Amino acid sequence: MPFISGTKSPLHEHRQFCTLCGDMETMDHIIIQCETSPCRLIWSLARKMWPHRPNLWPNITLGTVMGCGALSPPTTENREIMNENTPPLHPPKGAKRLLQILISEDAYLIWVLRCERSIQGQTHTIHEMNTRWEKSINKRLTNDKITALTITRDKNFRKLVKNTWEGVLLKQMDLPPDWLQNREVLVGRRLT
Ligand SMILES: [Zn+2]
Repeated sequence: MPFISGTKSPLHEHRQFCTLCGDMETMDHIIIQCETSPCRLIWSLARKMWPHRPNLWPNITLGTVMGCGALSPPTTENREIMNENTPPLHPPKGAKRLLQILISEDAYLIWVLRCERSIQGQTHTIHEMNTRWEKSINKRLTNDKITALTITRDKNFRKLVKNTWEGVLLKQMDLPPDWLQNREVLVGRRLT
């Protein structure tokens, strides 16, 4: 990922400022701190989509984003899930994978939108940002379905895919048992 240089060299004195709020544009500002959309909107969409307990959603920092390939829901809460008498609806493996998908897709989309704004001069409506976000998540969901059904055909991977997405989809629709095979089952879309 490119970054904004903080060096004091005269060649780099043209520091950049956020085109939305005017603050100094560091990577931390772009991805996490900016108080305007898309930053606030995209993170709130992911948080709203999260089907597990709210306290299993970590505090997002730039470090969380950069290390998201190894990220798990907060450890103490994880232990709490494991110790409950009733088994959790979604085992931590699926929750962990979903968390990694949501955080990496969010950060990437926020970065892409920023580049389109700053470099290409584009503007984005809230509706457009919503649509782009849904599209990015559905792309991951569809890739998972295709991989599980036609590429690996591995029982364990199929189980992992179900555990990753089922909670998200159940929040939105009466999920048919064979949803993995159903192309129409997507985030943001209700089955008719
Ligand atoms: Zn800003």
